Amino acid sequence: MSRLRDVGEFGLIARIAKLAKSAPHVIEGIGDDCAVLRLDRRTLLVSCDLSMEGVHFLTGTPPEAIGWKSAASSLSDIAAMGGAPAFVLVSLACPPDCEIAFIERVYDGLLDVLSQCGAALIGGDTSKSPAGLLLDVTAIGEAVGERCLTRRGAQPGDCLVTTGWLGLSAAGFHAITHGHDAPALVHAHYQPVPRISEGQWLASRPEVHAMIDISDGLAQDAGHLVEAGRLGVNIQKRFVPIHPDLAAYAECYQCDPFAFALAGGEDYELAFAIDGPACEETIAAFRREFRTPIAVVGRFNDAWHGVRADGEPLARSGFEHFKNPA
Ligand code: ADP
Ligand code: MG
Repeated sequence: MSRLRDVGEFGLIARIAKLAKSAPHVIEGIGDDCAVLRLDRRTLLVSCDLSMEGVHFLTGTPPEAIGWKSAASSLSDIAAMGGAPAFVLVSLACPPDCEIAFIERVYDGLLDVLSQCGAALIGGDTSKSPAGLLLDVTAIGEAVGERCLTRRGAQPGDCLVTTGWLGLSAAGFHAITHGHDAPALVHAHYQPVPRISEGQWLASRPEVHAMIDISDGLAQDAGHLVEAGRLGVNIQKRFVPIHPDLAAYAECYQCDPFAFALAGGEDYELAFAIDGPACEETIAAFRREFRTPIAVVGRFNDAWHGVRADGEPLARSGFEHFKNPA
């Protein structure tokens, strides 16, 4: 009998997707960062993300960080489609002995990132939990212009481009679990910033063909971009944006900064495909608009399928529920 650990998170989602029926108004159902719904002339984007104590955050995580991160992961999915977040619902399960002040601080963090992203808390659900805290955040947003970007659409010859620095969050987690003093990395882990404005700008550019947010590590999330077209993408390690703080941390504690950047998740940066010949001009225009770093890290091709780094096939080394050790 096949079990979850055999098929993994993505194998399970693929099976669930086969069970789901198509429905009116659904432009994108299961499989992308958000569901895309067309209602009259408006295009709604909806995504939910679950955060569970002991799985998504450690016991002892500051409550504000639990709230911030749980909401940021959902809002980031709206960013990944180029949308504007508007509303959020929060389902909360907690043990009866949980302090009310603790929950209030969770909501402080959650509401902080909501206000930064222009979203309002409009509802949710509450339950007791037999053990540990659980939050499920549903974000509802809207496509801003004519189009929203999906994970499909990368073409051979497109550049793979990322925003921000990669691997900071995973290094922050490493620092927390090893008791290392690295406040900037820990901050990146606790308070990732969804790239809302950048996502909207990118979706307005026709030369940007596909986009995803990096929640499970660049290697794995780039894998989602190559899947639909059976493409390949070669990531050139020397172009992967490693922040000096990460480089210094990796040097100090003798770890591989690229392992954090490629396989570490929860950076919530954007990864996208830009038409090859247009790429340079798009990046120049992005830099005029934003101070957010942007980097061309690889190129798509149709000669082989999958993700490689410097020509070497990369296992899908990012986070996948049921497959990764607890
Ligand atoms: P992300 O990392 O962007 O949040 P996920 O990998 O969690 O995306 O989910 C991928 C897709 O699968 C999304 O479209 C999501 O809505 C869908 N999905 C995930 N879990 C389930 C589930 N249990 N039932 C139905 N759809 C699911
Ligand atoms: Mg996503």
